[in-house]
Amino acid sequence: MPAPPTDSFHRKIDYLRLSITDRCNLRCTYCMPESGVARLDHTEILRYEEIVRLVRIAVSKGISKVRITGGEPLVRKDVLSLCESISRVPGLSSLSLTTNGVLLSDFAVGLLQAGVRRINVSLDTLKPERFAKIARKDLFNQVWAGIMAAEEAGISPVKLNAVIMCGVNDDEIEDLARLTFRFPFHVRFIELMPFRQSDHESVFMPASEILERLRRVAPLEASSADESNGPALYYRFQGALGKIGIISPVSGHFCPSCNRLRITSDGKLRTCLFSSDETDLRGPLRQGAPDEEIAAALLAAINKKPEKHQLSSPVFRKCISRPMFSIGG
Ligand code: SAM
Ligand code: SF4
Repeated sequence: MPAPPTDSFHRKIDYLRLSITDRCNLRCTYCMPESGVARLDHTEILRYEEIVRLVRIAVSKGISKVRITGGEPLVRKDVLSLCESISRVPGLSSLSLTTNGVLLSDFAVGLLQAGVRRINVSLDTLKPERFAKIARKDLFNQVWAGIMAAEEAGISPVKLNAVIMCGVNDDEIEDLARLTFRFPFHVRFIELMPFRQSDHESVFMPASEILERLRRVAPLEASSADESNGPALYYRFQGALGKIGIISPVSGHFCPSCNRLRITSDGKLRTCLFSSDETDLRGPLRQGAPDEEIAAALLAAINKKPEKHQLSSPVFRKCISRPMFSIGG
């Protein structure tokens, strides 16, 4: 296996997040407008053979972990065949997927069989009525059934991601965390990022406050980092089966250890979630560029990966160019 490429700040870049669709079957308030968004035409979206070719090229240059995301990846037709093709790319060590869980009951076993070993499910609340408000669809029970199906299928670990918002779901921090006493889940709390301009400031809760609330539930001890070297800091309640993760993209700087690249569903490479710099890969792919030319574009973009984001700057906060469903969370 080739060593992972390094950027100009000596970070090893070995993780690729692939958005395979901009479509979604939910409309989370912090991510999408209620009316949805103008969809990309299907001709603009990378075809499966193009995605697999990009993964093969990236892996040949030292990327070893891939996460499939969206939009909602499980709404894309034949997603299992894509997972299977990606998982067979020689040299890939880990294939994972992020989903809202709505379709997970139907897909859990198939995903595992297709080589997806780890799944993240977004779950901001345990209350069905509240779920209907946040996600704008009354589908809590379906999502919970999906989480249970993933657990029963043997996907391990199942990670649950909760975006915490003051006055919206912060009163559930403790109950979400207590799930780790009953299940071996990794329950991860994520700071709200300012992708939609609405009332971000008034509902934002910093990670430090989330942690303070967690410490009141039971003693928390630091736990080992995640296999993906992702941005979460991990903790565990004494005697718990699962772990607690804290992800603080806004108040804390995880940039010094950032190991990731993103490719949007229309084939744009982004080396920083919060930078609008993009490298078009779809053009070269469709114009018959050889693998080496695409690999060179990838490595050139890695070389220009920004040192850190400017999220704490109030000016920048108002102008993040693409929302998460579009970039691939
Ligand atoms: N649809 C899938 C899902 O919801 O898990 C995958 C794509 S979604 C964009 C990936 C992650 O981004 C989700 O965990 C979601 O909660 C998170 N996300 C979206 N908008 C966010 C925001 N403004 N701040 C923090 N996290 C956000
Ligand atoms: Fe869809 Fe995920 Fe965005 Fe919610 S967070 S609207 S489930 S893409």
